[in-house]
Order: sequence, then structure tokens, then C-alpha cells
Amino acid sequence: MKGRAETSPGTDEGAVEEPFEDTPGAAPGRVSWKRDLARSLCRARDIEKVLGVTAGSLEAVCAAYPARISPSVRQALSGPCGGPENPVWRQFVPDPREPDGTGEEDPLCEEAQSPVPGLVHRYPDRVLFQVETRCAVYCRYCLRKRLVGKKQEHGKEALEEGIGYIRKTPAVREVVLSGGDPLLLEDSVFFGLLSRLRDIPHVEVLRVHTRAPLALPSRITPAFARRLARFFPVYMNVQANHPSELGGEGGRALRILGAAGIPLGSQSVLLRGVNDSAETLAGLFTALLRLGVRPYYLHHLDRVRGAGHFYTPPGRGLRIMETLRARVSGMALPRYVVDLPGGAGKAALSPQTILGRRGGKWRVRSATGRVVEMDED
Ligand SMILES: *Cc1c(COP(=O)(O)O)cnc(C)c1O
Repeated sequence: MKGRAETSPGTDEGAVEEPFEDTPGAAPGRVSWKRDLARSLCRARDIEKVLGVTAGSLEAVCAAYPARISPSVRQALSGPCGGPENPVWRQFVPDPREPDGTGEEDPLCEEAQSPVPGLVHRYPDRVLFQVETRCAVYCRYCLRKRLVGKKQEHGKEALEEGIGYIRKTPAVREVVLSGGDPLLLEDSVFFGLLSRLRDIPHVEVLRVHTRAPLALPSRITPAFARRLARFFPVYMNVQANHPSELGGEGGRALRILGAAGIPLGSQSVLLRGVNDSAETLAGLFTALLRLGVRPYYLHHLDRVRGAGHFYTPPGRGLRIMETLRARVSGMALPRYVVDLPGGAGKAALSPQTILGRRGGKWRVRSATGRVVEMDED
């Protein structure tokens, strides 16, 4: 039997994507990650049926932008709090408002800054290498809605071209593996890629950006984590937007990675109706810290087409950051960043702390809101 062993309405048999084969010899008693992935909800009518959404209402949006709801996300959607107001629901269940025509296909101009397909070289010393176009879940606000889950030319040749570019560009000291989700690659491809990058003398640091530990926790096993840790220094940034994503198996996957010695960071996106309050974000960031994950960035939402209903103005983000600064440990506080239009790159959005200068003294506002004067020299 292939990935269609369970024939609940939730299987994605017949979906556009090729089925994920089960690994021969997968550990007994454990559901392999490929089997888990194959049990995802992908088709509009399956999602409607399983989640109790009006039949036919998601047909158009799923045709425009692929959907995938992994078993662990689906679990978070069941129960009394599982309706459309649920922050996990909002992030992953397609919304008929998506094709609203506002925003841009490629708001960060990534295509224009790609010397070879699937590799973005915006900053001199590091590249973003999109090594896979599929994900374990499709975030409805994704910055790469234009390409994720769709047939792309990011096959073997694109990977070769990317590696070739990095090898002949000595300014590149860090490679960020992104996608899509790099952890949807088979182990042999994923670790093969890391080995080849490690063999390039000027590549000092490797970084993996993924949702898999939380969206597909079966992807992370102690053996996988140990093998990854051998590529030291290799950093992993996971995405999480709401504290309810961190319970259960996902939290366990993060602990496995942390225990194997992989430094973990997080990236979150400020999303209306999901996490646009200081209270929710304080809960998220402190919960991440307890799991050994250092909050790295809170992203201001990019103006991507199909995600307008998630937009939160920067002024609101700044007020939230100001409240957080007084409330949580500095270890739990990420930088709030925006990716500027036109491919100009990231810029920090920081609450104002230097209020002015008077007679050789600086007036500075502390985290708790006290204004204190300090000498200039
Ligand atoms: C965000 C990003 C990076 C990584 O930036 P850091 O600030 O180092 O996390 C690299 N390349 C591109 C194209 C990016 O968008």
C-alpha cells in the first residue's frame, strides 16, 4: 500500500501532486513522515467535508492557491475551539477572500534578484536558496504564494545551478535553505545538499528555514537531529505564530533538535486576527523560549497578493513591541522587521527610545517607560 492506506475523506489521493511513497523499513510503531504527509487534506471538497465548511465555497481559492492541512494541524482544528475564529484555522484553511486582487505577486522582487532560478542573492554575504517548492502546510499569507505547491522547475538541475553559483561566488558566507520547506526533501537529497555546501570552503554558516517541526513533527527524529548536528554550525529557524501551535508533538520535535545541539530561532509574522496583540505574542515568545527557541524576527506582513485580510498596520506593530519590551525577557523579544518594497531588504522597526538631546545629555526612554538622562561623554 502506498500513502493511501487510510481512506478517510482526508487523504490527498488524486491530488495534483505526486504521492509521497512510504519509506521501506520505517521504524515499527511509528508513523513515517511521508505517511503523515499523505494523510493531509489538500482538495477543496475534502477540506469542506472534514471541517464542516459550505460545500463548493473553497473550490475557487484552492484552484488559485494550493492548500495542505497536515494531520497535526488538523488535530488543532478539531474540538470546540476549532472554528474559523481559531488562529490555526485562519493561518491554514483557505479563505474565499484570498483572490481579492490587491497586493503583488512578488512583493520583495525576489525574481529580479535571482542570478539563477530559485536562489535569491540580495545581501552580499548570504543567499536564500529555495531548494523545494512544497510545504507540509500552506500558510495562507505566504510571501511566495506565487510558487509554493505549484509545479516548478526547481528540480535537480536547479539545485545544481544553485550550488554552482554559490561555489563561484566567494562573497557568500552563509546559505539559508528555504523554499517551500527544505525538510520536505528526502533525507538523502537534504543531507547530500548540506554536504556539498559544507565542501565549499567559503561557506561558513548553514541555516535551515522550516515549518516542519511544528506542522509535521514526525519529520524530526533523534537520528535525523544527530545527523543534522554534524553539519555544525547549522542553525534552524522555525516559524510559529500562535502559542497553540507549540503543544504536543511539535514541542517534542523542538526539544529533540535542541537536545542534539542545533541552535533554534523562530520567525513569526504579525497577522490580523491571529496574533496582533501583545498578550498573544508574549505567550508565544515566552513559550518558544521555554522550548529552547530564541525568537529571532517578528515580520511585518509583506504586501503579497491574496493576503490582504491579514494586514496589520506598522503603527500597531510598534505599539505591540513597546508593550512587549516592558513585559518579557530580552531573550524572548524578537526584532520587528519589514521587508522593504522593491527588494531593498529588511529594516528594523523599533519603538523610539532616544527622545532627544539637551545640553550634552541624551534623553532616553527605558523599557518600563521612564525617561532618564545620560551624559554624552
Ligand atoms: C531575509 C533574507 C535573508 C536573511 O536575512 P537575515 O536578516 O540575515 O535573517 C537572506 N536573503 C534574503 C533574500 C532574505 O529575504
